[in-house]
Order: sequence, then structure tokens, then C-alpha cells
Amino acid sequence: MDSITRCSVIVVGAGVSGISAAKVLAEKGVEDLVILEASDRIGGRVRKEDFGGVSVELGAGWVAGVGGKESNPVWELARKSGLRTCFSDYSNARYNIYDRSGKLFPSGVAADSYKKAVESAIQMIRHQEANHHGGGGIGGADLSKLSEQLPDPKTPIELAIDFILHDFEMAEVEPISTFLEFGEREYLVADERGYEYILYKMAETFLFSSEGKILDSRLKLNKVVRELQHSRNGIMVKTEDGCVYEADYVILSVSIGVLQSDLITFRPPLPRWKTEAIEKCDVMVYTKIFLKFPYKFWPCGPGKEFFIYAHERRGYFTFWQHMENAYPGSNILVVTLTNGESKRVEAQSDEETLKEAMGVLRDMFGPDIPNATDILVPCWWNNRFQRGSYSNYPIISNPQVVNNIKAPLGRIFFSGEHTSEKFSGYVHGGYLAGIDTADSLLEEMRKEAERKAENQTFMLEPLLALTGSLTLSQTDAVSALNTFDIPRQLFLTSKLGMPEAIL
Ligand SMILES: Cc1cc2nc3c(=O)[nH]c(=O)nc-3n(C[C@H](O)[C@H](O)[C@H](O)COP(=O)(O)OP(=O)(O)OC[C@H]3O[C@@H](n4cnc5c(N)ncnc54)[C@H](O)[C@@H]3O)c2cc1C
Repeated sequence: MDSITRCSVIVVGAGVSGISAAKVLAEKGVEDLVILEASDRIGGRVRKEDFGGVSVELGAGWVAGVGGKESNPVWELARKSGLRTCFSDYSNARYNIYDRSGKLFPSGVAADSYKKAVESAIQMIRHQEANHHGGGGIGGADLSKLSEQLPDPKTPIELAIDFILHDFEMAEVEPISTFLEFGEREYLVADERGYEYILYKMAETFLFSSEGKILDSRLKLNKVVRELQHSRNGIMVKTEDGCVYEADYVILSVSIGVLQSDLITFRPPLPRWKTEAIEKCDVMVYTKIFLKFPYKFWPCGPGKEFFIYAHERRGYFTFWQHMENAYPGSNILVVTLTNGESKRVEAQSDEETLKEAMGVLRDMFGPDIPNATDILVPCWWNNRFQRGSYSNYPIISNPQVVNNIKAPLGRIFFSGEHTSEKFSGYVHGGYLAGIDTADSLLEEMRKEAERKAENQTFMLEPLLALTGSLTLSQTDAVSALNTFDIPRQLFLTSKLGMPEAIL
């Protein structure tokens, strides 16, 4: 076992929330911190990879929520870093729906199907909401009657529209805070340095770096946290390689999927209210598969960036995007799979996935299109440091769930996109959650310092009475006392001491 490293705060995870939390702490004078990151890089789910001659985003691709009254802080960071972006308009996708014989559905048919699907989804949500809040007097029986009246999507076009509505556009609680507060526009990052560049720029402000590389010894990569031993006195963190770290506090910014897995053992175990809340949050798996071609055979031009494949199996290679707007001449297509389909392709070889994707493309564009020369299939589900792509709270969910996930547990503070009440699932959600968690921790540190000072005075009074040194000022006395070796436990159990940790 390596020697024990001690510090004030350990931040577990160097994704956007871990980095933004650490930055706030460092700026507020808590420089005695360590960041433990399981992988060999910072960025987490903001991750680029070189593919087919350009840089593609395996995780977050868009800055979502731009053009509103308030400015999205991640958009601000992107602008300051000079990140290249291009406007994306999903809404056109519904007018480019192909059937299995390669025929485009007439736009009237597509628009009609779309309108019907939106109306019934809204009706269902309203009823669920009324049911949930007990208002409107709608009981479970009425809800099931309503479900019968709103038939399930059955035809390929209905299934395709259902997929884009529920796995993309309406996968969130309405009204969507991101669009309401920051605007409805979305910009795709198309920059060789990747979306992750904004994280490097953020990290550089408080971690020592040179020539674009972070060299600060407080950032420790390849450190997989496996155990958190927490008590009212402090926290001991053990990593997979046998290192031990001790700190007064921990900010845990790992994903909700990791919290749901058994990667990290808590001693003592997390209480029921915490584990139950963690289990209640759904995890979305969202997989962008990249395909490189020798030349393009798909339509380009205005309104053609996205297209849909209507198949009798819901979500089967449904949602496509070409990358000509982002990287003209790159000849790359992206197809997005979710949940069950994502897990299915992660479990098979890339060759099999390529064969399926080519079958779908030949259905849409004919037998003569060229084979893809390369494929990239990210695995967010089987990555034990992620276990999914992002949190997806049920459309109708109790705010207490997110509050309990976020609530600190003694000296452990929770962060990450899943702890953001308004912006969960987004990069800006992770960024703002990091700031929020760091602020809460700073407040707790301030209170703890106050409690300590009070306790020291409390302990000092009898001493002063004994020695008769009543001329000593309180400040002098307290600083003198700092040199005494008084066990911490004494403060913590004294009557003015820190309240019992909430365990
Ligand atoms: C495919 C995909 C597409 C997305 N698209 C968008 C988009 O277009 N726009 C958008 O705004 N958002 C998008 N998101 C969501 C966005 O990427 C996330 O919300 C955000 O990046 C989460 O940041 P985070 O810091 O909360 O978590 P993470 O980035 O997951 O950071 C947590 C870190 O903890 C580390 N870690 C895990 N376990 C341990 C351990 N035991 N010990 C030490 N370290 C550990 C991980 O390696 C990781 O680096 C997408 C995500 C995915 C996966």
C-alpha cells in the first residue's frame, strides 16, 4: 500500500462537474485538494475521438439551449474558447422519413402522424400529471381507460415518430428548463480540439499545465475509487491500485449509473433514503455510431441534415445525421441508437453492427451504395466508469428524488449532471451542479470552522480559570490552544460540537 495522502477535499471524477467544482474551491482558497479520476483523461462524457480524418464527439455533441434571454454558461465557455460550432435543426428530421423500400413519406403524411403523436403524448402527460398531483380527480382507472383510447404506435412511421418523440424530443419533463431559460437553439460542436477543450481551458485556470497538458500533481488519473469510508471525523478513500487518501470532505461526481452499480463501496453503507432515490432515476443509454464512406450518396442541402428510417422494430437504426454541415467532405454518417438497441449493439461485434447499418442504408438508398470503410461504436453502457449516457428522470417525478440524490451525507457531497434539478442530462447541468456543490461545501466548511472556534473557546474557559490568565485576549487564547494536542473527537462530541453526521 502506498503512503496515505491527506488533503482538505477530494473530488472524485474529472468530468465537467468535478472540474467546475474543483475550480470554484481553488478560487475560494481551497487549494489543498486532490482530483481522483478513474480514466486516463479529464472530460468524462465530453469526449472526442479522431475518426475518418476529423474529430467526432462520442459523448456530448451539442451545446443545447442557445439564443434565449439568459445565456447558457457552457455556450459562454465555448465562445470564449473559440470553439467552432454549427447550428443544427432536428425539427426537419420528421420531413425526411424513408420507408423500407427507400420511398420518402409525403410531408403531409409525416406531419399528420407527427401532430397526432404529439397530441396524444401531451394528453397522456397532462393526465399523468393530474393523477400524480391528485388534482383533476383522475384516478388510475381513468388513466388506463385513456391509454386504451390512445392506441399504441403500430405502423413503421408511427413507431419512428414515437421513437424521435419519446427518446429525443419529449424525453424530458415539460416545460424543458434548458430551452425555456437559455433558448431553443442547439449548436453542434465541430472543432478538431473537441468539446472537451472547454474543460481543459477551465482546468488550466487552477491546475498547473504546460503546452496544453495538465501537469499538476493534484490531478490523479487512472485512480479508480473503490471504497469510501466515512465518519463524522473525515473520509478515507481507497483506490483500486491500493492507494489511500484522507480528506475532510469528498465531492463525488461519478454518474448516476456508477452510483447504481457496485463500483464504489460505502462504509458504512448508504442509508435507504439515498439508495432508493438513486435507484429511482432512470439511466438513458444513447449511442452515436459513426460510419465513414468513400463518397456521399445521401441528400445534402437545407433541411436534410437529419433523416429517419421507418422500420417495424422501434428504434432500429431510426435516427440518422450526415456530418457535411460540420465537416464538409468528411463523408461521415451518424446513426443514433438508444437503450435496448444500444445495449444490443454493444454486446455484438462491430462487423455485425456494420452489416445491419449497411442493410438499413441499402433499404433507403438502394443496393449500389458503397460499403462503409470504417465504423466507430462507443460503449457507454459497458463502460464501468459510466454505466449509461445520462440521467433521465421520469417525466412525472417527485422533486424529492433529485433532492435526496443530491443531499450531502455527512462529509460526502454529491455532484454531477444527475444532481441538477433543472438541467439534468446536459453538459451545462453538470457544470452548474459542480458550482452548486462546491458552494454548498464551502458553506459547510465555513460553518465547521465557526463551530471549531466556538468549541475552542468553550474548552478554553475552564483552562483560563485554572491558570488565572484572564488578561489573555480570546483570539490569543484560541490561537494558543491550536498548539495543544486536543483530540478532534473531543470537539465533535462536546455539547457545542458538530451535529451528528446524517448517516
Ligand atoms: C452519447 C452522449 C451524448 C450526449 N449528448 C449531449 C449533448 O449533445 N449536449 C449536452 O449538453 N449533453 C449531452 N450529454 C450529456 C453530458 O455529456 C453529461 O451530462 C455531462 O458530460 C456529465 O458530466 P458529469 O461531470 O456529471 O459526469 P461525467 O462526465 O461522467 O464525469 C464523471 C467522471 O467520474 C469518473 N469516474 C467514474 N467512476 C469513478 C471512480 N470509481 N473513481 C474515480 N473516477 C470515476 C468518470 O471516468 C468521469 O470522468 C451526452 C452524453 C452522452 C454519453
